[in-house]
Amino acid sequence: MKSRFTPIALDDYIEKHLRSNPDVKGADIRARLEYAIDAHRTGKRCSCGANIWIVGSAEAGLSCFTCITGEKSPSDDYEIDIISSVT
Ligand SMILES: [Zn+2]
Repeated sequence: MKSRFTPIALDDYIEKHLRSNPDVKGADIRARLEYAIDAHRTGKRCSCGANIWIVGSAEAGLSCFTCITGEKSPSDDYEIDIISSVT
């Protein structure tokens, strides 16, 4: 499955997320994203067999883009660039 996510570094995504969700705690969203990144790194898949979507998985549990959004493919959706987000 080809994905056309917009790659974004972890820190940049968190900053963006907090700007549009002022009620969310930075440490909280970071912990949820890091959990999803770990799952992605260890090869965890969605129940349908696709790779998990880290950004969505932080909100909705470990699942792929299609299972979370009901859409076939991403458009203007972010995905964490885990290569540049090595901590
Ligand atoms: Zn799925």
